[in-house]
Amino acid sequence: MSSKFVKITDQTIKELVDIFGRENVSTQKNELEAYSHDEMPFATPHNPQIVVKPDNVKSIARFMCLANKKKIPVTPRGAGTGLSGGCVPLFGGILISFERMNKILEIDKKNSVEVVEAGVTLSDICNSVVEQGLYYPVHIGEMTSTIGGIISTNAGGMNAVKYGVTRHNVLGLEAVMPNGETIKTGGRFAKCSTGYDITQLLIGSEGTLAIITKAILKLTTKPGKKNVLLAPFMQLENALDAIPEILDLEMIPTGVEFMERSILELVEKYQKIKIPYLQHQAYLMITIEEESDDQTCDYFAKVEEICRRYEAVDAVIPGSGKAQRKLIDAREQFYHAIKQHSPMVVIDVVVPRSAIKEFVIRAKAKSAEMQIPLIVYGHAGDGNVHLHPCCENIARSEWIRKIPHLVSEIYKIGTSLGGAISGEHGIGYDKKVYFQNEAETPLYNAMKAIKKAFDPNGILNPGKLFD
Ligand SMILES: Cc1cc2nc3c(=O)[nH]c(=O)nc-3n(C[C@H](O)[C@H](O)[C@H](O)COP(=O)(O)OP(=O)(O)OC[C@H]3O[C@@H](n4cnc5c(N)ncnc54)[C@H](O)[C@@H]3O)c2cc1C
Repeated sequence: MSSKFVKITDQTIKELVDIFGRENVSTQKNELEAYSHDEMPFATPHNPQIVVKPDNVKSIARFMCLANKKKIPVTPRGAGTGLSGGCVPLFGGILISFERMNKILEIDKKNSVEVVEAGVTLSDICNSVVEQGLYYPVHIGEMTSTIGGIISTNAGGMNAVKYGVTRHNVLGLEAVMPNGETIKTGGRFAKCSTGYDITQLLIGSEGTLAIITKAILKLTTKPGKKNVLLAPFMQLENALDAIPEILDLEMIPTGVEFMERSILELVEKYQKIKIPYLQHQAYLMITIEEESDDQTCDYFAKVEEICRRYEAVDAVIPGSGKAQRKLIDAREQFYHAIKQHSPMVVIDVVVPRSAIKEFVIRAKAKSAEMQIPLIVYGHAGDGNVHLHPCCENIARSEWIRKIPHLVSEIYKIGTSLGGAISGEHGIGYDKKVYFQNEAETPLYNAMKAIKKAFDPNGILNPGKLFD
């Protein structure tokens, strides 16, 4: 890849060692390789020239001043679990890894907030507040992801119907701008009408505007027991038809997921478990968290009545906590199960909830026409549909040739229904070409102007979102 960036010299390495310490600046080939990719399928790895591992914001501020002055590309990286190539250092340069900034700084019970460094994992955040009777509700399928990465992609996940996505659960940030200045946005409060909302601008900005060093997270009280209902349907269309009525009920579920039998069969094989009731075409999985069993029973009775009206064959509530957990775990293994089964492409279109059915029918028709099997499931409660074109009964070379056209057609269907090409994984460089195609010109230009205002030299995560 040709580069407008300046080569890193021995003098620069010396300066980096001065900022971070010898042991936190690596140029070792094997280590650079480990930081050359994320979880995006089919991505070409790109090694950084140097990896640095800061443990405080002041060193990051000094470092960004240096990188900006010398026009060296900088790529921020959390756990590297992203699915769009967001943390891949396309132009080499310096990769900044947050593995040492993994401290939970404060649990402030009075204000129901937690203050954490950017490299703390989601799993550690969730566990850290349990004893205090508190809860951080964003729950994604990969709990080793860091909060810096999660914020930068505005990650969604399985509790979004009730609690919203990352953007609804972050109150403030500390971040270092490309010129080395440190900003603090938001605070330990829910409302703020004081100028532009930079917290929200940085959420979902995929490491292209500033480096997030700290976050103030909104906590909620610990919810009641999680319960799950599984409703099997003979037809996917019927399952999708039932969703709006379920979401119209007074109680808000944490998640409403839809899935076809094919994906559950893959999970059975992958996890070597037996999933009950696996002889039907499609399934709805509804999860709630309620204090009282009576509330749960009342709610599930109403859900069952709706599902049966749409020709569900049953509505099953696994009896034991273990059986419930097994079902929820199975849902969390979809990505791994598909990955083991076939080379795959990850599509995460979002459409208005009311358009899910039409979107799914049209996407499946398009893939059938192109003779590429399509696995479809999704967070039906928030309109986020995951689609995986699989390489089955087709030569791999032909599959690879056809995929860009199929993906592009699926994005066209999604956007024509009022949707967007990514609901939670971000653009990275995986979807950059489609983002450029689909963006309305004034909106796209406004985004580019924002990038220019934050990062006039274009050193921060170059090649992501825009060229
Ligand atoms: C099995 C599996 C399941 C998944 N399930 C879900 C799911 O349910 N919902 C969902 O939304 N996503 C999901 N993902 C995608 C992924 O976990 C998320 O995108 C996550 O937010 C990435 O976090 P990370 O720490 O690995 O970030 P990385 O992959 O390291 O980076 C992601 C982006 O954030 C930027 N970044 C990282 N840290 C910082 C920082 N401190 N400052 C500025 N920018 C930064 C990077 O430059 C990059 O653009 C899943 C992935 C896998 C592999």
